[in-house]
Amino acid sequence: NSELADGAREIIRAIEQQGHQAYMVGGCVRDTILDRPIHDIDIATSAAPEQVCEWFERVIPTGLQHGTVTVVTKRGTYEVTTFRREGGYVDNRRPASVEFITDVTEDLRRRDFTMNAMAVDADGMLLDPFDGQVDLQAHRVRTVGHAEERFSEDALRMLRALRFASVLQMRIAKGTWRALVKLRAGLAPVAMERVREELWKLTAGPDPARGWAFVVRSGILAYAKEPLLFLAHPWSARWQSALAVLGQVETPELRFALLALVHGASAEEAQAVCLALRLSGAQQDGILPVLRAHAQLAAAAQAASAAAAAQGAASAGEAALRRAFAQAVLAYGETAVRGALACRQAMLGASEGEQPAAVQQASMQPQAAADLPHECAEPHAACTLLRMGPQWLNAMPVRQLSDLAIKGRDILEASERPAGPWVRANLEHIWIKVAVGALPNERDALMNVVRKGGDTT
Ligand code: ATP
Ligand code: MG
Repeated sequence: NSELADGAREIIRAIEQQGHQAYMVGGCVRDTILDRPIHDIDIATSAAPEQVCEWFERVIPTGLQHGTVTVVTKRGTYEVTTFRREGGYVDNRRPASVEFITDVTEDLRRRDFTMNAMAVDADGMLLDPFDGQVDLQAHRVRTVGHAEERFSEDALRMLRALRFASVLQMRIAKGTWRALVKLRAGLAPVAMERVREELWKLTAGPDPARGWAFVVRSGILAYAKEPLLFLAHPWSARWQSALAVLGQVETPELRFALLALVHGASAEEAQAVCLALRLSGAQQDGILPVLRAHAQLAAAAQAASAAAAAQGAASAGEAALRRAFAQAVLAYGETAVRGALACRQAMLGASEGEQPAAVQQASMQPQAAADLPHECAEPHAACTLLRMGPQWLNAMPVRQLSDLAIKGRDILEASERPAGPWVRANLEHIWIKVAVGALPNERDALMNVVRKGGDTT
């Protein structure tokens, strides 16, 4: 984003005019070298925050005590922070004091990793006192200075190391990794919001399995302030299967759902983890309904398999399965059901759309099912669901109750009974029939059913 960079250079030059130094620092320098998109530019300066406030027209005193002022220009918004040194740390997290300084190298020294400790001036001259470029080229996350010291100062840096290794697809330098494993218990005082932030970014990245492999091997989550249940389980065959398929679903929400599923966690356990991680309502809404829909579909698939076995015909349970499928759409929504199917597909080790050598294998060799994450124990119905689910869904003329050509009011008006929960029950009953194609979604036809059947429940 050259407009954004131009704006940063203008600010730097303006500060230099006042006889002070200023540089672009941190993530934007790293991402420029990596040729990654830049979302924001941070500026570091020898000038005091009060001076910065004076020199620019539109400023927001974001964090004056920490030396940060937000400068707003027509080209963009920039955080301008005075060079500083941090003295003493409380709680393995917060610096007890900050001291403003005039030496940029000292400011870079307080930063977490070598790749984040580089600065660029307005002419593009790079300051790289800790060999950040060398580490970038080696795809290596390495702390500035002594890793144990840096992680003891601020335990969040351990999670940041894991996140950067994941998102930037890097390794972790040996000394940095050793220190991380040694000091992992230091995570305890870190706010769960911060833990969430790092885990979410790591999970949303291009290679979530890589990030989670680091997380699990480090054992760090067992030391989080609040229990993270299955997410904190030690390395195991389950983790191995989870990570083998994690990247097959696209969103961080579905990836979290998949982690819960592979660990055989209930929706309640998953909810406890969501709460511990302080996930937002929207994030939870992307995870929990998927798990509930999945549980309902898995139960229906199991019932369908049992019916098929009892009647000796594979097709026996299919109508019931389709109804159960429609019920799940009604209860949890189309998105959640699609998510549940995607997770299931992933768990069977096949990529979406193509039909599953792995599924066939599982059904031919029931004993192999034990190696696969759970309900592959019911391969036939599970296959039916995966094969037919998307078709059923696409064929559904209704996706939610409000899509139905009649309303509760219509049912009420056609009957003599007083209003009550029965109205909705009838409406849902009719909805399911429409959803599976047994009734057309036409008002007259549906009203006929209502009048004839009266109470259909
Ligand atoms: P991104 O914004 O892409 O996540 P970033 O490197 O910009 O990455 P920020 O959290 O925005 O990360 O922090 C900006 C800079 O501040 C970092 O590049 C690093 O130099 C420094 N920094 C951030 N957090 C810490 C920390 N916990 N300890 C030391 N330095 C830190
Ligand atoms: Mg940043």
